Amino acid sequence: MNLKLQLLCDAPEAVALVQRYWAVDAAGQYREKVSDLLPFRAFTRPAQITQYVREQCRVFDLNQACPRCGEPVRITSRSAARPSPQRSSRPCERCAGKIEQAMREARAQAEKTLADSLQAYMKARPSGTVDYAAVTDDIALLLIALHEALEPAMAQGTFGSAECRALAPKHVGHFIRRLYQAGVLLEEPSQAQRGTYFLKDGQLRVKDSQRVYALMPGIPPGQLRAVLAAYHQRSFNDAPRLFDLWLDYAEADCMAYFEAQCILYAHQLYDDEHAEVRSALRGGLEHYCVAQMWSAICRVVRDAASLANRTYYDRAKASATLPGKLRRYLERARREAFELKGCTRPEVQPPGALGMVFQDLFGIDENTTGTMVWATFAHRSEEWMATGEPTSWMAARRLMVRALQSDMPFATLERFAQTLKAGVALEAAIDEVLARLPAAGA
Ligand SMILES: [Zn+2]
Repeated sequence: MNLKLQLLCDAPEAVALVQRYWAVDAAGQYREKVSDLLPFRAFTRPAQITQYVREQCRVFDLNQACPRCGEPVRITSRSAARPSPQRSSRPCERCAGKIEQAMREARAQAEKTLADSLQAYMKARPSGTVDYAAVTDDIALLLIALHEALEPAMAQGTFGSAECRALAPKHVGHFIRRLYQAGVLLEEPSQAQRGTYFLKDGQLRVKDSQRVYALMPGIPPGQLRAVLAAYHQRSFNDAPRLFDLWLDYAEADCMAYFEAQCILYAHQLYDDEHAEVRSALRGGLEHYCVAQMWSAICRVVRDAASLANRTYYDRAKASATLPGKLRRYLERARREAFELKGCTRPEVQPPGALGMVFQDLFGIDENTTGTMVWATFAHRSEEWMATGEPTSWMAARRLMVRALQSDMPFATLERFAQTLKAGVALEAAIDEVLARLPAAGA
């Protein structure tokens, strides 16, 4: 042992005790056991001696050099002393203090950089007000659904991404992003919990699930319900946007099912395989309904699971066949025109607020085929009518759309009946009644 004592006391009995405590013999052993130092004053236990000695003296082990400056490190117990010279694993007190100080400064600097980045991020947010009456059909539909999913948080101010779970069975973040990109949501970093925004490699990063949003200004206080009620009165005739939103929703409804099935059969997919499955499902959903896709999923997932039990296959290889299997199965179904059976909606997978809005406003759900969904939207506007139909069919369709759009279905039918009764031929009657209805978009 090679110890250096730095006494903090001068009472002779204390000094004597400290020296006895740390005294070492020629063999490097402590001369006395701590219990042999008793009695001392009123102390009755060795631990009291150890504690007292620690307070009266600082001890440095000349055998342990600080890895940074080479000075001996301080020890506080007999067992910490080393019999031969070596590098200490911890720094001396002075170096430890410097390290601590440097870390404090680095932390303060990081906090400041984060605060500055966040400030810049908040400044760069879009500002101004939104004309809520002018938002596109898909956004209006999403706002109706989000309001229902969040009730009453949307009217009260801010809401977190995690609170929007009831919006759809899956990909809720995607729908929120869609609203954000359309400019109707404002991100509120100041309302998010600590740690939501952080720096990584000098870049500001965000935990998506912890973002907090509010509606962009543009709705007078207390008028949210009125704005949403006006959306219900819309003619919803932007077929491409509505169909795109439906495909997003239907895809989410399928992916929720797919992931549940994968867990059941212990399949694990890489991100790019996931993306392939999503793309195959989306392609299929343009023709089939969600319930049919569920049954296709069910079939290929089970097929892949049985592959895993074969020689030369393992679970990972079998899982990797899923995207291809699904795509081929759907292609074959279309080519050979065989009927895909539909599954019923699993109890654990409710349709979500967006699904309910699609059902309430358009009567479409997991059993409506993609072709039918497109027709449902397309028939609401002359612009998106199928081309290539006979002229008389198009005229008839135009008559119905315009009668509904001008909110004159009964008057139109009445006039149509009278025109026929007056002896006008069918096609001419359609043209005549059509000509007396307000023009499209009027
Ligand atoms: Zn040091």
